[in-house]
Amino acid sequence: MLTNMIISKDILQQFDMPGPRYTSYPTADRFVEAYGEAQYLDSLKERRVSPRGMMSPLSIYIHIPFCASLCYYCACNKIITGNYQKAIDYLDDLQREVELLVPHLGQGQAVSQIHLGGGTPTFFKDKELHELVNLLKAAFQWQPNGEFAIEVDPRTVDIERLHNLWAMGFNRLSLGIQDFDPQVQQAVHRVQTVDQVHALMQAARAIGFVSVNLDLIYGLPLQTQASWQRTLHAVLQLRPDRLAIYGYAHLPARFKPQRHIHVESLPSASQKTSMLEMALQQLQDAGYVYIGMDHFALPEDGLSVAKRQGRLHRNFQGYSTRPDGDLLGLGVSAIGSMGSSYVQNAKLIDDYSDLLHHGKLPVVKGIGLTRDDLARRSIIMALMCQGRVELADIEQSHLLEFSTYFASELAQLEAFAKHGLIEFDGRVITVTANGWYLVRAIAMVFDKYVQSDEKRTHFSKIL
Ligand code: SF4
Repeated sequence: MLTNMIISKDILQQFDMPGPRYTSYPTADRFVEAYGEAQYLDSLKERRVSPRGMMSPLSIYIHIPFCASLCYYCACNKIITGNYQKAIDYLDDLQREVELLVPHLGQGQAVSQIHLGGGTPTFFKDKELHELVNLLKAAFQWQPNGEFAIEVDPRTVDIERLHNLWAMGFNRLSLGIQDFDPQVQQAVHRVQTVDQVHALMQAARAIGFVSVNLDLIYGLPLQTQASWQRTLHAVLQLRPDRLAIYGYAHLPARFKPQRHIHVESLPSASQKTSMLEMALQQLQDAGYVYIGMDHFALPEDGLSVAKRQGRLHRNFQGYSTRPDGDLLGLGVSAIGSMGSSYVQNAKLIDDYSDLLHHGKLPVVKGIGLTRDDLARRSIIMALMCQGRVELADIEQSHLLEFSTYFASELAQLEAFAKHGLIEFDGRVITVTANGWYLVRAIAMVFDKYVQSDEKRTHFSKIL
């Protein structure tokens, strides 16, 4: 039994419901095909001619979908292949996409954030990664203190490759770990040793990478309290700057790879909550700051500093220290955000490639935000990032009377107040220390779409 527990298991379970992760609002399941290339071109033009285009640097997300082998828990948009020619062809398509976009944006736009995600970005060999970086450097101006991050599969990278990534300009790494237990690793078909990861982390620190993040998953097949404790212990010995700890959501009807996982090998919902409880306690004891949702960071990491100073933001890569700005999504299935709209590229690589070969941007759906969406987005992001909503700020920015416009939402918040998850004094809604663990459920109160969708079967549970 854990002492000093920060939030009770009962409350965690009571508010554990399916819901979005709010990397955007409205969430991507609300994007429509009627919002396509023509509307995206308008929003690019609007940026080019407005002061925003001059003053606010861009962020870029690039999706590299290829992986050499399948992890059975995977819910990502990926392509498992041993055919490297596919990666070479894909690089050509990325080049086409950048060449089509730049005239609409203006050459040499400043970029303060780049994130290569996947799939496995390090499926690309250094030669192709280098070409991709050169393409981005020719088209955009990388800001000197920018955050240039790449997701790394430790099985695909050695110390020499880390040096090469650093030389290309990457200064942040995110390593997928999930679990260190050999049996769990075999059950999810992803085997990598602690020593392998330890060597990479030592090298990354020596080279000068600003921040190293590790991803873990609880609720995987064959995980037990004891095995999870050993994994947490090994991870905390490595002392990453940031940690993301996700709950495994078993949705085999939606994600085919998960059909390899036998449901009877999974920990129960109650065991899962105990694993989360254990992680929260151990991370707190080890001095990590809880950033929000699934994210933790050392007190001196930029995310912790931003949280203390009320400067946290949220975008498609999760929490960020950079102010919200326009985000270009490049590659298959990538999502972008431009002004008050979101767009998404084709999800299938053949469709993505075909559109580009016909000289078209590969955007296939999106959404233009209404006034109501904008007000709700401000509230949801303020809750998720600052844990605080000043009613007067929303009233002034969105020209509405909060207590009338959101009367039913304020009534719903009473259940959270009763359990000590929020405080509300009539002027400010404040998420309490315990409330941070369930901030998604609190934010969902203001989500018009999710409130009208009783089943929410397309979302995973919060824990
Ligand atoms: S979890 Fe990551 S590395 Fe594994 S198959 Fe999915 S995208 Fe590829």
